[in-house]
Amino acid sequence: MPLINTQYDSIMREYARRQTRSRQELEERLVRIHQEIPELLPLEEAITACQAGKVRAAVSQDSGKLKELDAQLRDLQNKRAVLLSEHRLGPADLEPVYTCPDCRDTGYIGEKKCHCFLQAEIDLLYHQSRLKDVLEQENFQTFSYQWYEGEDREIMRRNVAEARMFIERFDDSFENLLLLGAVGTGKTFLSNCIAKELIDSCHSVVYLTAFQLFELLSQAAFGKEKTTSAGQSAYPYIFDCDLLIIDDLGTELPNTFTVSQFFLCINERILRKKSTLISSNLDMEALRNIYSERTLSRIISCYKIRQLPGNDIRIRKKLNANL
Ligand SMILES: [Zn+2]
Repeated sequence: MPLINTQYDSIMREYARRQTRSRQELEERLVRIHQEIPELLPLEEAITACQAGKVRAAVSQDSGKLKELDAQLRDLQNKRAVLLSEHRLGPADLEPVYTCPDCRDTGYIGEKKCHCFLQAEIDLLYHQSRLKDVLEQENFQTFSYQWYEGEDREIMRRNVAEARMFIERFDDSFENLLLLGAVGTGKTFLSNCIAKELIDSCHSVVYLTAFQLFELLSQAAFGKEKTTSAGQSAYPYIFDCDLLIIDDLGTELPNTFTVSQFFLCINERILRKKSTLISSNLDMEALRNIYSERTLSRIISCYKIRQLPGNDIRIRKKLNANL
């Protein structure tokens, strides 16, 4: 999916910013390290000279010299490793730290766009820039069982364990999840936990409320999407992303047309073996009434359906805060 130039430029500017930041950070770190270990600089100069010598020896095809320099280089590198470890440092401490080590913050691996570039495109096209902030707050590290009581807590532990399995097996087995539960029982929180883990492990994740999804589906179907402010089609990623999260199904205003589009979306992702996670306040009966029998039967046969326990956690959190 092509981006328009300004969008492409804004992503590339971010990469340039990251590269500058990691370069500066490395320079400052090297100054500190060289101050702490004055013997390191002459050793590094000798290593550089040795490497340059090897290139010259290779050009003049002097295999004797090459062998000699090889041994010298190994010796110098060993000395450096020992020196660093005496100061509790390793070779990695002399290298830049990249946000994405896979593409070294260039956005590309060879000719191909890196997974981080794809996620940047998705974030831009779906206006997901706020998602990262939310995920910093709502993830497995911040998940708390204290809002669930008695048996509910046990049920929730099982749900969380299953969510972790979903992530662990994500690349090997095709699974979908439907999380049901009353308002404020933690469905969105749990979806966010899953989204964070998958984004962190280089998967592309599109997060849409049901309202946004139905908007996109109807815009795409009526050919209006080209005139959106983003100027580009956000549609293909709905089918292609590794995980599509549809939050709060049932809060949008569906009509016959969008309901059939919804079936196509769900069905297409199943055919492509791309995982989907849906959350809803409604029960199965209400979902069947709104989204048709055939949609529900696809969901029942291809999704794990989990009921989240508990009353409104948000109310309990508020009450606790006021105590
Ligand atoms: Zn990357």
